[in-house]
Amino acid sequence: MKFSARSSPQISETARRRWLRTSLGAIAAGAWCSATTNHVNAEDATRNPETPDEALAILREGNQRFIAGKSLSVHRDLERVKEVAPKQTPFAAFLGCADSRVPIEIVFDQGFGDLFVTRIAGNVATSENIGSLEFGTLLLGAKVLYVLGHTNCGAVSATLQGTEVPGQISGLFQHIRPAVRATKGNLAKSVEENVRLQASVLSESSPVLARLIREKKLIVAGGVYDLQTGIVSPVELD
Ligand SMILES: [Zn+2]
Repeated sequence: MKFSARSSPQISETARRRWLRTSLGAIAAGAWCSATTNHVNAEDATRNPETPDEALAILREGNQRFIAGKSLSVHRDLERVKEVAPKQTPFAAFLGCADSRVPIEIVFDQGFGDLFVTRIAGNVATSENIGSLEFGTLLLGAKVLYVLGHTNCGAVSATLQGTEVPGQISGLFQHIRPAVRATKGNLAKSVEENVRLQASVLSESSPVLARLIREKKLIVAGGVYDLQTGIVSPVELD
């Protein structure tokens, strides 16, 4: 089945307000899945977001489908591959962990050409992936910059334990250590704090990203993916 270009947005002001209400409810409850959604068909799932808030809503809905076992797997066929081959316009950019259990397109039920993803152990913001994310947002037009941590993250856990590790693995620790210190060694809290920390590094260390945020062309969001349930719980950023 073909779901080609993201369909043009048909979002009324009423619908937008309704989404904002449900979204705030979801944040209050600490999980996407607390909000209800009617967006279960492929046309809605592939709509083209006009605003950063709507782009975030599309991600939220995708994770809801995933955890409900109702993934539409849109944009995953050869026709879509050919459609986006000449040009990509991803609607969201990600800084996620390299962990094999957190495949971001699957978690948010998206496909080819939808997400601009950088992954690195511990989802840490280094100068190289900040450059990649500047590319994904400023030049390709992603409207959301999402930092995704996950439960039981090995990189955060290793930083917390501070044990000797081989090779250059310890190079990651310097980026995560402030989050571990701030939470006094609690792994779950450190994962959450690390999302907050990396999001603030992205927002504050890059003038390019800061300007997009100031101009309201981009929002920075954060979340923690639960390895057991598949649920992405939003993290309130500083
Ligand atoms: Zn991890």
